[in-house]
Amino acid sequence: MTEPREWLVMWLRDAHAMEEQAETMLTGQASRIESYPDLKDRITRHLEETKAQAERLRQCLEGMGESPSKLKDAGGKLMATGQAMGGMFAGDEVMKGSLASYAFEQMEIASYRVLIAAAEHLGEMRVAEACKANLQEEIAMAEWLASHLPGTTRDFLDRAAAGDKDAKR
Ligand code: MG
Ligand code: FE
Repeated sequence: MTEPREWLVMWLRDAHAMEEQAETMLTGQASRIESYPDLKDRITRHLEETKAQAERLRQCLEGMGESPSKLKDAGGKLMATGQAMGGMFAGDEVMKGSLASYAFEQMEIASYRVLIAAAEHLGEMRVAEACKANLQEEIAMAEWLASHLPGTTRDFLDRAAAGDKDAKR
């Protein structure tokens, strides 16, 4: 039998590892992108938000007398590294990255909705508030990516057709 509190702690650790994965992924994208300055800027901004999100989660765990899982965090970083390397060898790295980022934001949104419900169910209101703050930033990033996907796509296609060697990133 597992107590609800243990599930909340486990999901907070999963979310912390998810943000570590996001940090690695966004750091790689921000350093690789050259021909898409608006995308690069937005990713850089979300990278800073992501670091603060991880810190908020760490504080949630600390407030519950717990700490993040080093093993889960390492797994998250490993996943992000593998994904970034996959993109580098693709001829459309910026598009692969955009798709991965958008999908990742949706997973973050779902994770925080689960965490908010669990925290409220347990009366852990500080945890719920922290997760709501993170959720708003994920929604904003997902909306930005969704609204810029068509433009990035057109830009990529035009650059690639013109033979721009940096079209892919
Ligand atoms: Mg995040
Ligand atoms: Fe995010």
